[in-house]
Amino acid sequence: MKDHDFKKSTANLKKAVPLMVKHHVPTTPENYALWYTYVSEIVPELNKEIDLLLKNYEAMPVVSGEVLYRNHIAGKAEVDLGNLKQNMEAMAVELSNSMTDAISDTSHFAEVLTTSFDSISTKLEQEKTPTLDEVMPMIRELVDEARDIRDSTDFLHDQLKSAGDEITKLKKQLARVQCDAMFDSMTKLYNRGTFDKDLSLFCDAQQPLSLILLDIDHFKSFNDDLGHVFGDTILKGIAARLLQSCQGGITAYRFGGEEFALIVPNKPLRVARQMAESLRLAIEKMTIKDRRRGKTVGNITASFGVAELAPEDDSIRLSERADKQLYSAKRAGRNRVMPY
Ligand code: GH3
Ligand code: MG
Ligand code: MG
Repeated sequence: MKDHDFKKSTANLKKAVPLMVKHHVPTTPENYALWYTYVSEIVPELNKEIDLLLKNYEAMPVVSGEVLYRNHIAGKAEVDLGNLKQNMEAMAVELSNSMTDAISDTSHFAEVLTTSFDSISTKLEQEKTPTLDEVMPMIRELVDEARDIRDSTDFLHDQLKSAGDEITKLKKQLARVQCDAMFDSMTKLYNRGTFDKDLSLFCDAQQPLSLILLDIDHFKSFNDDLGHVFGDTILKGIAARLLQSCQGGITAYRFGGEEFALIVPNKPLRVARQMAESLRLAIEKMTIKDRRRGKTVGNITASFGVAELAPEDDSIRLSERADKQLYSAKRAGRNRVMPY
């Protein structure tokens, strides 16, 4: 690294670290890479996405960090995870063996060259012109050596190419593994694990927010009457509707079974309650086509519990308060938002 590059890197790191502290970003190697890239301003798309997030959040959501890393950094840097790492190591050993072979072939070639030139120059020093018979065996040996080198570099080239293909494949696999760990495969919303991580981070950072929990009413009877597969279609339909309301930093999660959660940053209880109310109305109006029976199913409703993060809250207390509200919405007759 040139001195000027080194100075620039140090300056960027000095800018990145305070930002990470300010936004409560855990100091993992991935996050260093992410924030270093951010302050370097070399990936404009990444900067745009982070700026947008920071508009809504004091603390950077863990999942957003992970997704940004995957989309903008991991594709360009080295990655490793469990057996993927082993595959990479095995590949590295193979490559290193081929390189050792290629190097040993080239150094042998260099030796042969030196010996041949030495012998020619000795002749010339003795003012004797080497005869064709003396030169020919040397040339033959040089040609053979050169051929060996070409073979081994061709082999190395092929191996590098297949290693490159393998790395691309592994990267895709890794992205999939990381995705599976964060998302619910059926609804494509973030899963419960991601919800727990995000909510804890926000509560620890005292990020102002409200939490909306919702539970589909009498969902069991949809399953009983129309079958589990159709039950799944309803869940997917609701998830798609929730995703539509994910604007201004709102994130939707599948909390479990037929329960969902929305984290609404920077909004007080009153506003989150209104959001829940319009979602309630939207779900009430929803109709989902049952293709097998050629029927359209309506009458889907959900109950909502809303709570706002209080200064003394941790994520568990906040979830419990929202859950209590949800429970009272059920008891009061379902298809409503609590607190009223
Ligand atoms: P309530 O109004 O009190 O919430 O009644 P409910 O029937 O919605 O609640 P209950 O907890 O009795 O039943 C929830 C049902 O959701 C039971 C379970 O089989 C179903 N369920 C959970 N996960 C899935 C899923 O992934 N697919 C389908 N089709 N059903 C699911
Ligand atoms: Mg339930
Ligand atoms: Mg339910």
